Amino acid sequence: MFKNMKTAIVVGAGLSGLSCALELEKNGYQVQILEKEDHSGGRVHSDIIEGYILNRGFQVLQTGYPEAKKLLDYKKLELCNLDSEVWIMKNNKIKKLYDPIQNPFNLLKASFSNVGTFWDKLRLLKIRQSTVSRSTDTIFKDNEITSFEQLQNYGFSDSIINEFFKPLFGGAFLDNELNTTSRMLNFVYKIFSIAPVAIPKYGMKSIPEQLEAKLESKISFNTKVIKLDNKNVFLENETLSADVIVLAANHNSTKQLIPSIEEISWNSTSCYYFIADYPPFNSKVVLLNGNNQGKINNVFVPTNVSKDYSPNNKSIISVSTIGLNTNETEIRNELKNWFGNQTEDWKLLHVYHIEHALPRMSVPGISHSQYVNGIHMCGDYLTSSSINGSMYSGRITAKQIISN
Ligand SMILES: Cc1cc2nc3c(=O)[nH]c(=O)nc-3n(C[C@H](O)[C@H](O)[C@H](O)COP(=O)(O)OP(=O)(O)OC[C@H]3O[C@@H](n4cnc5c(N)ncnc54)[C@H](O)[C@@H]3O)c2cc1C
Repeated sequence: MFKNMKTAIVVGAGLSGLSCALELEKNGYQVQILEKEDHSGGRVHSDIIEGYILNRGFQVLQTGYPEAKKLLDYKKLELCNLDSEVWIMKNNKIKKLYDPIQNPFNLLKASFSNVGTFWDKLRLLKIRQSTVSRSTDTIFKDNEITSFEQLQNYGFSDSIINEFFKPLFGGAFLDNELNTTSRMLNFVYKIFSIAPVAIPKYGMKSIPEQLEAKLESKISFNTKVIKLDNKNVFLENETLSADVIVLAANHNSTKQLIPSIEEISWNSTSCYYFIADYPPFNSKVVLLNGNNQGKINNVFVPTNVSKDYSPNNKSIISVSTIGLNTNETEIRNELKNWFGNQTEDWKLLHVYHIEHALPRMSVPGISHSQYVNGIHMCGDYLTSSSINGSMYSGRITAKQIISN
């Protein structure tokens, strides 16, 4: 049956590998996917600990992502939207910004008046209009400056940059200083403007699981590739061959397999998960640190958004940092300043320290080759460090293979 079919081996079942494999299968390839872990999804994953669903670090789906819209069935994911508000902790008081990007008219609400100037609010509106009207392709062809420089060029005041943009976009890029390329700022601004942010009802892992279910082939789990060339992959005790080899591993594994590729830097994060009898707030929002100091970037209560994350009535509280932070006492002290004595009763359930979270998208960007030594490659480090970037990378690599 498969005699005349072209064959491909995809190494890595993260979002880029899954997206690539699906596109190849759609175009008549017989695909074999090899994954070193016991699950698909790579960095997009959830663990179940004591019955609680914990996403591996603070991660959400920006439902406006063009690639995610193409690949995913949002209805089947049972997406639970966050409210389109941004909450900011400033001097131990919460300031509420009613949907400052998605619904710019809310900017005029009095609650926002003490963050940024009147002109800042008009600028937010103007930039929203300009990013929404431009295609993603055009945005990614812009001249690159840092996000910080871009915001200054747009004319924003220091106060709105420090209290709003740094915690929001710094959190999204895991980059406190906003050194990330302005292309990413404008792209994410556009995506935030057009559609809500959500989490699947049963955890982020539902995203790769849905893609995996769409594959014709089965993934070989616990299968680590230790060497490869343009036609073969070498496992511990076996060699597999195919017409096409795609390396869809994260950059550090790729570098081990193909040492000649460029070095990159990574942005890191730690995520503390606490369990509490009741949440510190009831809304489906991300509470950002607008103090311009401290270790915490954001606090989020996933059980406010989907009750199914908890096996009982208790709340899960996720507390995330930009950069690694292994000092629980420091985190707890800061939380106590924010929420008072209730935090003493919070039980620490689990901490993730994720050193290799996001490939740093600095300026100027590194131009990686997608094809080295006859091996095709895909992954977020080749496009943009995001769910959208990884899916896009997988799809365009497959398209290139098909067109050859
Ligand atoms: C904490 C955190 C939060 C995030 N939040 C968001 C967010 O809110 N929104 C967003 O858009 N993006 C977010 N991201 C980024 C997004 O998750 C990644 O950009 C994307 O998932 C990367 O996919 P990938 O396929 O390129 O790489 P990976 O997910 O790293 O997949 C690579 C796969 O290859 C496998 N592999 C590696 N080496 C081998 C080998 N030798 N043999 C076999 N298999 C191998 C790995 O096990 C892995 O499964 C977040 C990332 C992190 C870590």
